[in-house]
Amino acid sequence: MEMSDVMKNIYGLRLEDLEEYFLSIGSKKFHALQLFSWLYEKRIHSFDEITNIKKDMIEEIKKEFSIEPLKIVDVQEDVDVSKYLFELYDGEHIEAVLMRHDYGISICISSQVGCNMGCKFCESGRRKKVRNLETYEMVLQLLMIEELIHTRISHVVVMGIGEPFDNYDNLIQFFQIINHPKGLAIGARHITVSTCGLVPKILEFSQFPLQINLAISLHAPTNEIRDKIMPINKAYPLEELIPAIKKYLENTNRRVTFEYIMLKDINDSEECALNLVKLIKGINCYINLIPYNETNNLDFKRTNTVQIMHFYDILKKNSVNVTIRREFGGNISAACGQLRSKKEEL
Ligand code: SAH
Repeated sequence: MEMSDVMKNIYGLRLEDLEEYFLSIGSKKFHALQLFSWLYEKRIHSFDEITNIKKDMIEEIKKEFSIEPLKIVDVQEDVDVSKYLFELYDGEHIEAVLMRHDYGISICISSQVGCNMGCKFCESGRRKKVRNLETYEMVLQLLMIEELIHTRISHVVVMGIGEPFDNYDNLIQFFQIINHPKGLAIGARHITVSTCGLVPKILEFSQFPLQINLAISLHAPTNEIRDKIMPINKAYPLEELIPAIKKYLENTNRRVTFEYIMLKDINDSEECALNLVKLIKGINCYINLIPYNETNNLDFKRTNTVQIMHFYDILKKNSVNVTIRREFGGNISAACGQLRSKKEEL
Protein backbone atom coordinates (compact mmCIF):
# COMPACT_ATOMS: atom_id res chain seq x y z
CA MET A 1 0.00 0.00 0.00
CA GLU A 2 1.36 3.39 -0.97
CA MET A 3 0.94 6.41 1.24
CA SER A 4 -0.82 8.12 -1.66
CA ASP A 5 -3.53 5.42 -1.50
CA VAL A 6 -4.46 6.42 2.01
CA MET A 7 -5.92 9.70 3.14
CA LYS A 8 -3.57 12.29 4.54
CA ASN A 9 -3.37 11.94 8.28
CA ILE A 10 -4.30 15.17 10.04
CA TYR A 11 -1.40 14.87 12.52
CA GLY A 12 1.09 15.48 9.71
CA LEU A 13 -0.11 19.02 9.04
CA ARG A 14 1.47 22.15 10.43
CA LEU A 15 -0.67 25.10 11.39
CA GLU A 16 0.24 26.89 8.17
CA ASP A 17 -0.68 23.80 6.11
CA LEU A 18 -4.11 23.78 7.72
CA GLU A 19 -4.49 27.50 7.07
CA GLU A 20 -3.67 26.91 3.44
CA TYR A 21 -6.20 24.08 3.33
CA PHE A 22 -9.03 26.19 4.75
CA LEU A 23 -8.25 29.00 2.32
CA SER A 24 -8.14 26.52 -0.56
CA ILE A 25 -11.70 25.39 0.16
CA GLY A 26 -12.85 28.99 0.26
CA SER A 27 -13.07 29.11 4.02
CA LYS A 28 -11.37 31.15 6.73
CA LYS A 29 -7.84 30.81 8.03
CA PHE A 30 -8.78 30.94 11.72
CA HIS A 31 -10.39 27.50 11.52
CA ALA A 32 -6.85 26.12 11.38
CA LEU A 33 -6.12 27.32 14.89
CA GLN A 34 -9.44 25.96 16.10
CA LEU A 35 -8.69 22.58 14.60
CA PHE A 36 -5.15 22.60 16.02
CA SER A 37 -6.55 23.25 19.45
CA TRP A 38 -9.01 20.35 19.14
CA LEU A 39 -6.19 18.05 18.12
CA TYR A 40 -3.47 19.08 20.54
CA GLU A 41 -5.21 20.74 23.50
CA LYS A 42 -8.49 18.90 23.69
CA ARG A 43 -7.05 15.71 22.17
CA ILE A 44 -10.11 14.60 20.25
CA HIS A 45 -10.33 11.18 18.60
CA SER A 46 -12.98 11.99 16.03
CA PHE A 47 -13.71 15.06 13.94
CA ASP A 48 -17.30 14.78 15.16
CA GLU A 49 -16.23 16.03 18.57
CA ILE A 50 -15.53 19.46 17.09
CA THR A 51 -18.28 21.88 18.12
CA ASN A 52 -17.15 25.26 16.81
CA ILE A 53 -16.81 24.43 13.11
CA LYS A 54 -19.92 24.01 10.92
CA LYS A 55 -21.10 20.47 10.24
CA ASP A 56 -20.77 20.66 6.45
CA MET A 57 -17.20 21.81 6.77
CA ILE A 58 -16.45 18.97 9.17
CA GLU A 59 -17.75 16.63 6.45
CA GLU A 60 -15.32 18.26 3.99
CA ILE A 61 -12.45 17.76 6.42
CA LYS A 62 -13.42 14.12 6.89
CA LYS A 63 -13.28 13.54 3.14
CA GLU A 64 -9.78 14.97 2.97
CA PHE A 65 -8.08 13.78 6.15
CA SER A 66 -7.93 10.79 8.43
CA ILE A 67 -7.53 11.08 12.20
CA GLU A 68 -6.45 7.46 12.65
CA PRO A 69 -3.95 6.80 15.46
CA LEU A 70 -1.15 4.24 15.25
CA LYS A 71 -1.59 0.90 16.99
CA ILE A 72 0.35 0.27 20.14
CA VAL A 73 0.86 -3.48 20.03
CA ASP A 74 3.22 -4.01 22.94
CA VAL A 75 4.45 -2.16 26.03
CA GLN A 76 7.41 -3.29 28.12
CA GLU A 77 8.20 -1.69 31.44
CA ASP A 78 11.37 -1.45 33.47
CA VAL A 79 12.45 0.86 36.28
CA ASP A 80 12.12 4.42 34.94
CA VAL A 81 11.76 3.27 31.34
CA SER A 82 9.01 1.93 29.11
CA LYS A 83 9.23 0.73 25.54
CA TYR A 84 6.35 0.94 23.09
CA LEU A 85 5.98 -1.10 19.94
CA PHE A 86 3.87 0.63 17.29
CA GLU A 87 2.26 -0.92 14.26
CA LEU A 88 1.97 1.35 11.23
CA TYR A 89 -0.65 1.47 8.48
CA ASP A 90 1.32 -0.92 6.27
CA GLY A 91 1.99 -3.47 9.00
CA GLU A 92 5.54 -2.24 9.68
CA HIS A 93 6.74 -1.74 13.24
CA ILE A 94 8.78 0.83 15.09
CA GLU A 95 9.65 1.49 18.71
CA ALA A 96 9.71 4.48 21.01
CA VAL A 97 11.18 4.63 24.50
CA LEU A 98 10.06 6.71 27.45
CA MET A 99 12.49 7.63 30.20
CA ARG A 100 11.68 9.15 33.59
CA HIS A 101 14.31 11.57 34.84
CA ASP A 102 14.36 13.86 37.85
CA TYR A 103 13.99 16.80 35.45
CA GLY A 104 10.99 15.41 33.58
CA ILE A 105 9.99 12.74 31.10
CA SER A 106 11.79 12.25 27.84
CA ILE A 107 10.82 10.19 24.89
CA CYS A 108 13.10 8.72 22.26
CA ILE A 109 11.33 8.38 18.95
CA SER A 110 12.07 6.57 15.68
CA SER A 111 12.37 8.34 12.34
CA GLN A 112 12.50 5.47 9.81
CA VAL A 113 11.52 1.84 9.39
CA GLY A 114 14.96 0.24 9.27
CA CYS A 115 18.10 2.28 8.57
CA ASN A 116 20.62 2.41 5.73
CA MET A 117 23.60 3.82 7.60
CA GLY A 118 24.97 0.39 8.44
CA CYS A 119 26.90 1.26 11.61
CA LYS A 120 28.55 -2.01 12.50
CA PHE A 121 27.74 -1.97 16.21
CA CYS A 122 24.07 -0.97 15.97
CA GLU A 123 21.20 -3.47 16.04
CA SER A 124 18.66 -0.97 14.77
CA GLY A 125 20.51 -0.82 11.48
CA ARG A 126 20.55 -4.54 10.85
CA ARG A 127 17.41 -4.13 8.84
CA LYS A 128 17.82 -1.98 5.73
CA LYS A 129 15.62 1.05 5.42
CA VAL A 130 12.13 0.09 4.35
CA ARG A 131 10.77 3.61 4.30
CA ASN A 132 10.82 6.99 5.96
CA LEU A 133 8.30 7.69 8.67
CA GLU A 134 5.65 10.18 7.69
CA THR A 135 5.45 13.32 9.82
CA TYR A 136 2.23 12.15 11.48
CA GLU A 137 3.87 8.87 12.46
CA MET A 138 6.46 10.80 14.43
CA VAL A 139 3.89 13.14 15.99
CA LEU A 140 1.67 10.24 17.01
CA GLN A 141 4.47 8.41 18.84
CA LEU A 142 4.51 11.37 21.19
CA LEU A 143 0.81 12.09 21.35
CA MET A 144 -0.21 8.50 21.97
CA ILE A 145 2.33 7.88 24.70
CA GLU A 146 1.26 11.08 26.48
CA GLU A 147 -2.30 9.90 26.32
CA LEU A 148 -1.41 6.48 27.67
CA ILE A 149 0.52 7.79 30.67
CA HIS A 150 -1.74 10.81 31.30
CA THR A 151 1.31 13.02 31.71
CA ARG A 152 3.04 15.63 29.57
CA ILE A 153 6.34 14.69 28.01
CA SER A 154 8.94 17.40 28.55
CA HIS A 155 11.82 16.30 26.33
CA VAL A 156 12.05 14.67 22.92
CA VAL A 157 15.09 13.00 21.39
CA VAL A 158 15.11 11.66 17.85
CA MET A 159 17.47 8.80 18.59
CA GLY A 160 15.37 5.72 17.95
CA ILE A 161 15.41 3.63 14.80
CA GLY A 162 16.58 5.40 11.67
CA GLU A 163 18.77 8.27 10.56
CA PRO A 164 16.65 11.40 11.08
CA PHE A 165 18.65 13.50 8.60
CA ASP A 166 17.92 10.86 5.94
CA ASN A 167 14.25 11.84 6.45
CA TYR A 168 14.93 15.54 6.69
CA ASP A 169 11.76 17.20 5.40
CA ASN A 170 9.38 15.11 7.49
CA LEU A 171 11.63 15.63 10.50
CA ILE A 172 11.52 19.40 10.13
CA GLN A 173 7.72 19.37 9.86
CA PHE A 174 7.57 17.17 12.94
CA PHE A 175 9.64 19.75 14.85
CA GLN A 176 7.38 22.55 13.67
CA ILE A 177 4.29 20.72 14.92
CA ILE A 178 5.59 19.61 18.30
CA ASN A 179 7.27 22.94 19.00
CA HIS A 180 4.27 25.07 18.07
CA PRO A 181 2.75 26.78 21.13
CA LYS A 182 -0.69 25.60 19.99
CA GLY A 183 0.66 22.20 19.00
CA LEU A 184 2.46 20.09 21.59
CA ALA A 185 4.38 23.17 22.79
CA ILE A 186 7.64 21.35 23.44
CA GLY A 187 10.40 23.94 23.74
CA ALA A 188 13.06 23.72 21.04
CA ARG A 189 15.76 23.49 23.68
CA HIS A 190 14.03 20.38 24.98
CA ILE A 191 14.31 18.68 21.60
CA THR A 192 17.45 16.89 20.40
CA VAL A 193 18.18 15.27 17.08
CA SER A 194 21.08 12.90 16.56
CA THR A 195 22.82 12.20 13.26
CA CYS A 196 25.60 9.87 12.24
CA GLY A 197 27.02 12.76 10.21
CA LEU A 198 25.18 13.58 6.98
CA VAL A 199 27.20 16.68 6.16
CA PRO A 200 24.86 18.40 3.67
CA LYS A 201 21.97 18.08 6.12
CA ILE A 202 24.04 19.39 9.03
CA LEU A 203 24.70 22.46 6.88
CA GLU A 204 21.04 22.76 5.99
CA PHE A 205 20.06 22.34 9.63
CA SER A 206 22.39 25.20 10.55
CA GLN A 207 19.91 27.48 8.72
CA PHE A 208 16.85 26.13 10.54
CA PRO A 209 15.55 28.82 12.89
CA LEU A 210 14.41 26.70 15.85
CA GLN A 211 16.98 26.25 18.63
CA ILE A 212 16.90 22.47 18.57
CA ASN A 213 19.88 20.59 20.02
CA LEU A 214 22.14 18.70 17.67
CA ALA A 215 24.00 15.54 18.64
CA ILE A 216 26.57 13.87 16.43
CA SER A 217 27.34 10.18 16.64
CA LEU A 218 31.11 10.51 16.42
CA HIS A 219 32.34 7.29 18.03
CA ALA A 220 35.92 7.56 16.74
CA PRO A 221 38.66 10.20 16.71
CA THR A 222 40.28 9.22 13.39
CA ASN A 223 39.09 8.26 9.91
CA GLU A 224 40.95 4.99 10.23
CA ILE A 225 38.81 3.84 13.14
CA ARG A 226 35.60 5.55 12.05
CA ASP A 227 35.80 3.97 8.59
CA LYS A 228 35.81 0.54 10.20
CA ILE A 229 32.68 1.01 12.30
CA MET A 230 30.63 3.64 10.44
CA PRO A 231 30.35 3.31 6.64
CA ILE A 232 28.99 6.88 6.44
CA ASN A 233 32.52 8.06 7.21
CA LYS A 234 33.60 7.01 3.71
CA ALA A 235 31.07 9.43 2.24
CA TYR A 236 31.64 12.20 4.79
CA PRO A 237 35.03 11.77 6.46
CA LEU A 238 36.13 13.79 9.48
CA GLU A 239 37.76 16.50 7.36
CA GLU A 240 34.29 17.27 6.01
CA LEU A 241 32.27 16.52 9.14
CA ILE A 242 34.24 18.73 11.52
CA PRO A 243 34.10 21.87 9.33
CA ALA A 244 30.36 21.32 8.82
CA ILE A 245 29.90 21.23 12.59
CA LYS A 246 31.98 24.38 12.94
CA LYS A 247 29.78 26.04 10.37
CA TYR A 248 26.70 24.92 12.30
CA LEU A 249 28.12 26.45 15.48
CA GLU A 250 28.98 29.66 13.69
CA ASN A 251 25.47 29.99 12.26
CA THR A 252 23.56 29.00 15.37
CA ASN A 253 25.76 30.06 18.26
CA ARG A 254 24.85 26.82 19.94
CA ARG A 255 26.72 23.88 21.37
CA VAL A 256 26.83 20.37 19.96
CA THR A 257 26.98 17.05 21.71
CA PHE A 258 29.31 14.35 20.48
CA GLU A 259 28.21 10.84 21.29
CA TYR A 260 31.06 8.41 21.74
CA ILE A 261 30.32 4.73 22.34
CA MET A 262 33.04 2.99 24.29
CA LEU A 263 33.98 -0.14 22.35
CA LYS A 264 36.58 -2.40 23.91
CA ASP A 265 39.94 -2.35 22.08
CA ILE A 266 38.48 -0.35 19.21
CA ASN A 267 38.19 3.27 20.29
CA ASP A 268 38.92 3.27 24.02
CA SER A 269 42.71 3.65 24.28
CA GLU A 270 44.61 6.57 25.81
CA GLU A 271 45.76 7.47 22.34
CA CYS A 272 42.14 7.64 21.19
CA ALA A 273 41.31 9.95 24.09
CA LEU A 274 44.17 12.26 23.16
CA ASN A 275 43.25 12.20 19.47
CA LEU A 276 39.70 13.03 20.43
CA VAL A 277 40.89 16.03 22.43
CA LYS A 278 42.80 17.23 19.36
CA LEU A 279 39.90 16.62 16.99
CA ILE A 280 37.39 18.71 18.91
CA LYS A 281 39.77 21.46 19.94
CA GLY A 282 38.09 24.85 19.65
CA ILE A 283 34.60 23.39 19.18
CA ASN A 284 31.91 24.43 21.65
CA CYS A 285 30.73 20.98 22.60
CA TYR A 286 30.38 18.35 25.16
CA ILE A 287 31.12 14.70 24.85
CA ASN A 288 28.75 12.04 26.00
CA LEU A 289 30.55 8.75 26.60
CA ILE A 290 28.15 5.88 26.05
CA PRO A 291 28.89 2.51 27.60
CA TYR A 292 28.28 0.12 24.70
CA ASN A 293 25.16 -1.96 25.14
CA GLU A 294 26.15 -5.45 24.23
CA THR A 295 23.95 -7.16 21.68
CA ASN A 296 24.03 -10.45 19.80
CA ASN A 297 26.82 -9.00 17.72
CA LEU A 298 29.92 -10.66 19.11
CA ASP A 299 32.35 -8.41 17.25
CA PHE A 300 31.97 -5.72 19.89
CA LYS A 301 32.47 -5.69 23.64
CA ARG A 302 31.85 -3.00 26.19
CA THR A 303 34.85 -1.18 27.61
CA ASN A 304 35.08 -1.93 31.32
CA THR A 305 34.13 0.74 33.81
CA VAL A 306 37.68 1.40 35.00
CA GLN A 307 38.84 2.06 31.45
CA ILE A 308 35.81 4.28 30.76
CA MET A 309 36.72 6.33 33.85
CA HIS A 310 40.33 6.55 32.70
CA PHE A 311 39.20 7.81 29.27
CA TYR A 312 36.88 10.25 31.01
CA ASP A 313 39.72 11.55 33.20
CA ILE A 314 41.97 12.20 30.22
CA LEU A 315 39.25 14.28 28.58
CA LYS A 316 38.55 16.15 31.84
CA LYS A 317 42.23 16.92 32.36
CA ASN A 318 42.25 18.44 28.90
CA SER A 319 39.31 20.69 29.80
CA VAL A 320 36.77 18.84 27.68
CA ASN A 321 33.15 18.93 28.89
CA VAL A 322 32.40 15.27 29.27
CA THR A 323 29.67 13.15 30.80
CA ILE A 324 29.02 9.43 30.94
CA ARG A 325 25.55 8.55 29.75
CA ARG A 326 23.20 7.19 32.36
CA GLU A 327 22.09 3.76 31.26
CA PHE A 328 18.46 3.02 30.66
CA GLY A 329 16.43 0.11 29.50
CA GLY A 330 19.02 -2.62 28.98
CA ASN A 331 16.70 -5.20 30.58
CA ILE A 332 13.97 -4.69 28.03
CA SER A 333 16.24 -4.08 25.03
CA ALA A 334 15.24 -0.46 25.04
CA ALA A 335 18.75 0.96 25.26
CA CYS A 336 20.67 2.82 22.54
CA GLY A 337 21.25 0.66 19.53
CA GLN A 338 18.92 -2.10 20.67
CA LEU A 339 15.68 -0.98 19.03
CA ARG A 340 14.39 -2.95 16.10
CA SER A 341 11.79 -2.51 13.46
CA LYS A 342 10.94 -6.13 13.01
CA LYS A 343 8.33 -7.58 15.27
CA GLU A 344 9.47 -11.22 15.16
CA GLU A 345 12.89 -10.30 16.41
CA LEU A 346 11.75 -8.46 19.49
N1 SAH B 1 21.05 7.51 13.26
C1 SAH B 1 21.16 8.53 14.26
C2 SAH B 1 20.12 8.41 15.35
C3 SAH B 1 20.24 7.17 16.21
S1 SAH B 1 20.80 7.69 17.75
C4 SAH B 1 22.57 8.53 14.82
O1 SAH B 1 23.35 7.67 14.43
O2 SAH B 1 22.93 9.43 15.56
C5 SAH B 1 21.24 6.21 18.54
C6 SAH B 1 22.58 6.34 19.21
O3 SAH B 1 22.91 5.08 19.85
C7 SAH B 1 23.67 6.60 18.21
O4 SAH B 1 24.64 7.44 18.75
C8 SAH B 1 24.24 5.20 18.01
O5 SAH B 1 25.50 5.24 17.48
C9 SAH B 1 24.18 4.66 19.41
N2 SAH B 1 24.26 3.20 19.48
C10 SAH B 1 24.03 2.30 18.51
N3 SAH B 1 24.22 1.05 18.96
C11 SAH B 1 24.58 1.16 20.26
C12 SAH B 1 24.89 0.22 21.26
N4 SAH B 1 24.84 -1.08 21.03
N5 SAH B 1 25.23 0.69 22.47
C13 SAH B 1 25.22 2.03 22.74
N6 SAH B 1 24.93 2.96 21.84
C14 SAH B 1 24.60 2.53 20.60
